[in-house]
Amino acid sequence: MLDVFVLMQAQTWFFLLSVGLISLCIGSFLNVVIYRLPVMLHKQWRAECKLILSESSAEPDDAQAETFNLATPSSHCPSCNSKIRFWQNIPLFSWLLLRGKCAQCHTTISVRYPLVELGTALVSLFIANHFGVTPQCLLYLVLTWALIALIFIDIDHMLLPDQITLPLLWLLLLASVQGLTIAPKEAIIGAAVGYLSLWSVYWLFKLATGKEGMGYGDFKLLAIFGALLGWQAILTIVLLSSVVGAVIGSIQLAVQGKDKSTPIPFGPYLAIAGWITMLYGDAIENWYFNLILA
Ligand SMILES: [Zn+2]
Repeated sequence: MLDVFVLMQAQTWFFLLSVGLISLCIGSFLNVVIYRLPVMLHKQWRAECKLILSESSAEPDDAQAETFNLATPSSHCPSCNSKIRFWQNIPLFSWLLLRGKCAQCHTTISVRYPLVELGTALVSLFIANHFGVTPQCLLYLVLTWALIALIFIDIDHMLLPDQITLPLLWLLLLASVQGLTIAPKEAIIGAAVGYLSLWSVYWLFKLATGKEGMGYGDFKLLAIFGALLGWQAILTIVLLSSVVGAVIGSIQLAVQGKDKSTPIPFGPYLAIAGWITMLYGDAIENWYFNLILA
């Protein structure tokens, strides 16, 4: 195992190749998480609601009875239910080989699956190249993978599951204790400021207008970046997320002509802005202050 790390440190190409291949597989797993985790949560919430409303459990819910988690049932075509064989499940290449269609029933497989795999590999290579063979690199990779899952789940369901956000927050606080990121005191204050800043805005907005502009998942997401980068980065991330939102929103409007009144999840903008700040926060802050002082 140690030899592998030595080889990675000595040979950049070996390191990048390893990260590229591993992250393609991670991307494939993220597709599963993005699709299945919200379904699992909805099933769980339905079961809990039934319990609270003390409905008779005499009539078993078929969908409820079947095991459904990240591993079971095994991958199958949603259209014809045929099992996806090993060679049809190779990230990116299988989709290209099958030309985006199910081998059995020829139903189109969404192009989003290979794009998530390719995107995961590309951003992972970027992180690997940026941080090199360090413990930080692994930490930032895990964070990036989790953010990809959060972004797509939020787009699909307007939801940032606690099952992803909270472990990530604890992980980053522990990383700061281990000396991998900022000092623990800064990390704790950063997490609190991240959470409470959006929480305050949410309640002020809600008390003033009666509407909900964000969800609690957004507060937790900002707390994650606060724990990683400290409270000083919060303002940059929030400002940058509105820039990201404006850019993506106008692209969407131009391409799809989407109605502006449809609710848009805030999580993806926050995640992208946080990710950029994590890599280029100092450069952005310098540029911004120079702009103000000029
Ligand atoms: Zn099929």
